[in-house]
Amino acid sequence: MHELSIARSLVGLVRESVPGGAVVKSVLVRVGPLQAIESGAMELSWCAATEGTVFEGAELLLTFVPWELGCRECGRSWSSDSWSDPCTCGSCRVDPVGGDELRLESIEVEDLPNRTASADAPRAVKRSQASKETRRV
Ligand SMILES: [Zn+2]
Repeated sequence: MHELSIARSLVGLVRESVPGGAVVKSVLVRVGPLQAIESGAMELSWCAATEGTVFEGAELLLTFVPWELGCRECGRSWSSDSWSDPCTCGSCRVDPVGGDELRLESIEVEDLPNRTASADAPRAVKRSQASKETRRV
């Protein structure tokens, strides 16, 4: 499956990009229309590709970018959801520009648990010692 090989290469990219031991929460990927990625199939493939790895449970977020079109007659360029959009000048000689991008935009990593609060502990001990001064006669 097309999506599965993409998911596998994404896992490889994420592995290269994050430090060892980091917990990946989500991965944001920008997808051009020429990649012909179906979001449902991509989700399943991501799930399969991350299963049993340290990235299992990480969320895959896809941003689908529209077609970038250029008119050969008047030189106008615009973006559209459809590649068969005619130009406003009436010309049908329209070419898609780019559209084949597949870019790992960002990776959200969970905070490492190395910032623990230790300053509050001694204060609590002092308070419990003071309460012992009230004694019954
Ligand atoms: Zn035009």
